[in-house]
Amino acid sequence: MSIKQNLNNIKNTLPEHVTLVAVSKTKPVSDLMEAYNAGQRIFGENKIQEMAGKHEQMPKDIEWHMIGHVQRNKVKYMAPFVGLIHGVESFKLLKEINKQALKHNRVIDCLLQIKIAEEESKFGMRPEEAKNILLSQDFSALKNIKVTGVMGMATFTDNTEQIEKEFKLLKATFDTLITLKTENCKLQTISMGMSGDYQLAIACGSTMVRVGSSIFGYRN
Ligand SMILES: *Cc1c(COP(=O)(O)O)cnc(C)c1O
Repeated sequence: MSIKQNLNNIKNTLPEHVTLVAVSKTKPVSDLMEAYNAGQRIFGENKIQEMAGKHEQMPKDIEWHMIGHVQRNKVKYMAPFVGLIHGVESFKLLKEINKQALKHNRVIDCLLQIKIAEEESKFGMRPEEAKNILLSQDFSALKNIKVTGVMGMATFTDNTEQIEKEFKLLKATFDTLITLKTENCKLQTISMGMSGDYQLAIACGSTMVRVGSSIFGYRN
């Protein structure tokens, strides 16, 4: 099936309140353009330089999401254009994003990445840590970022119950944090769910799914 057909099949199953991020990492611009021409405007990449290169080559009405692990020294390359950074997992990183956003006179939306998986390798902060950051004075001083939600990645496993448990943890974390409304923190997004588990994620409360291989085919 074509990228356009894949995209339409997925879009037809998504509830109105769920946003689709087309994860295009490793794929050529021609593939992304196929999705673009089929109406897709939000693309997710996990490498900053790759995203910056594609941003340069593609139409400017695309919203670019950084979904991967972010190194602080590379924030400057995406600060002029990035639409949403999913994987923010430390206060230090928030500070750097704020600093770079200020240079471009922008406010950059961020999601706090919460560690929901049991695997040691998965990045993210504990729910308690997220809460402490959002309540801190230092955080309230960051005028050029806005925390708009949370993001999580479930354990890579076939055990559906395990995945469901982790998705529910992210939803519960969101429900706790949403009460902490400040100038630069207004939670509305729960980014969870990929090709293999986005339907389960939506059933558990996801409002944003990050789907790659089901749209663009397998990656090498
Ligand atoms: C690659 C990736 C995805 C998409 O994975 P698929 O299984 O191809 O849908 C989603 N989220 C993150 C953080 C990723 O790195």
